[in-house]
Amino acid sequence: METITDQSSTDQSFRDHLATVDAKGHRKWIYAQKPRGKWYKARTYISWIFFILFFTLPFVYVNGQPLFLFNVPAARFILFGKVFWPQDFFIFGLSMVTFIIFIILFTAAFGRLFCGWVCPQTIFMEMLFRKVEYLIEGDGPRQKLLNNAPWTTGKVLKKTQKHIAFYLLAFIIANTFLAYIIGVRELWKIVTEPVTGHIAGLFSLLVFTSVFYGVYAFFREQVCTVVCPYGRLQSVLLDRNSMIVAYDHKRGEQRAKFRKGAAAGTGDCIDCMQCVKVCPTGIDIRNGLQMECVGCTACIDACNHMMEKVGRPLDLIRYASENGIMEKEPLRYTMRMKLYTGLLSILVVILSALLMSRKDVDATIMRAPGMLFQERGTDSVSNLYNIKIANKTMRQVPLQLRLENLSGKVDIVGGKVISVRQDEEGSGTFFIILPRSEVLARKTVLYIGLYEGSKKIDDIHTNFLGPILDQDE
Ligand code: SF4
Ligand code: SF4
Repeated sequence: METITDQSSTDQSFRDHLATVDAKGHRKWIYAQKPRGKWYKARTYISWIFFILFFTLPFVYVNGQPLFLFNVPAARFILFGKVFWPQDFFIFGLSMVTFIIFIILFTAAFGRLFCGWVCPQTIFMEMLFRKVEYLIEGDGPRQKLLNNAPWTTGKVLKKTQKHIAFYLLAFIIANTFLAYIIGVRELWKIVTEPVTGHIAGLFSLLVFTSVFYGVYAFFREQVCTVVCPYGRLQSVLLDRNSMIVAYDHKRGEQRAKFRKGAAAGTGDCIDCMQCVKVCPTGIDIRNGLQMECVGCTACIDACNHMMEKVGRPLDLIRYASENGIMEKEPLRYTMRMKLYTGLLSILVVILSALLMSRKDVDATIMRAPGMLFQERGTDSVSNLYNIKIANKTMRQVPLQLRLENLSGKVDIVGGKVISVRQDEEGSGTFFIILPRSEVLARKTVLYIGLYEGSKKIDDIHTNFLGPILDQDE
């Protein structure tokens, strides 16, 4: 990864190990101090919006169906009230590709803005669990003291309180998470009906709860620094023009402890270590950009606070690009970003076209296998067809079939309509009967209109086999 590094330092050994692992390979627990400042405040407001959306969206139903559902086991997805089936997989695939291109473009331009501001892992960790921890155990240094202290009644009480609170929060998150998968109505059944009828659901709920509890109580920042693939990709996605949280080493070095009336030529960094103490991943941003940095802005707030105290200009640590720090260049829209934007625009257009042309009722018509044609009296010929219908709506759809391009008739076996229940697949069998005068070749192309009442839903073409041989046969 190209990095902004402290030019005064040639020691890059910090890159050889994780900040959260000591020389013996043991975990170094991070006791991050509570950040205070305008960026933290702004992130807090964003987190409130996130929490409102996360915890309420599963309850939003439109026309009897959830606004969002990601039912992976049943391969049913609902996005903004639109039901997607496995048949729509190509739309899903293209959406994923578009999303990935968007992420690449966004990261090239704005670095890890996503991680710091809207990633659920960061928001839950920093804006929920960490805050509960501050409330029960106090700020970072107090937490450290408590952990190193002998086991007294007070310590047991605090630890018990914290872990009960963490487990309850994890349980609430797990319930909401499950609601996104199976819907709140199914979740309600698991909660209210006898356990024996919902063993699998209850098991999933406990597994999710344990995973969330384990992540936020113990695993914490390791998710971002070790597990998250997006974090690992930063090294190839960022360049010298990407916006990152950066230390202005040109202004900051040579760092020196603050003394009133310090000699001219000393950098603005007063080596107070506040930026390190607030960092939730335990790194020193003054070493340059590191993969562990999640762009949380805590160090910006901490440093600004110190700059205010010592009366030096703010934003020694700020959002900037490498070129911005080195050359004082403003953030630029580079050729690479333009290319990504072009590609992204093309994909968005294709995706929009696919979404707009996507049908709520999908049908496939095939001639019945092993059958040619049937003579109907002296003046008509018929073919037998099977139809398969996917009804992606949440209402029963009675379908009629009409011949669109020839005179003739459609004779549905067993009735006048084929009815397909909501959110299900249906099938039917029907004859198409054509007068001989319409059958002028061995194969005749037919257009069959699918109607719900008088509303045309789809047009499907198929072939009709007749007794007449083509001239070249
Ligand atoms: S270096 Fe700063 S922005 Fe990066 S994770 Fe640490 S505190 Fe957050
Ligand atoms: S908070 Fe600012 S002044 Fe203090 S050590 Fe970090 S960069 Fe230097």
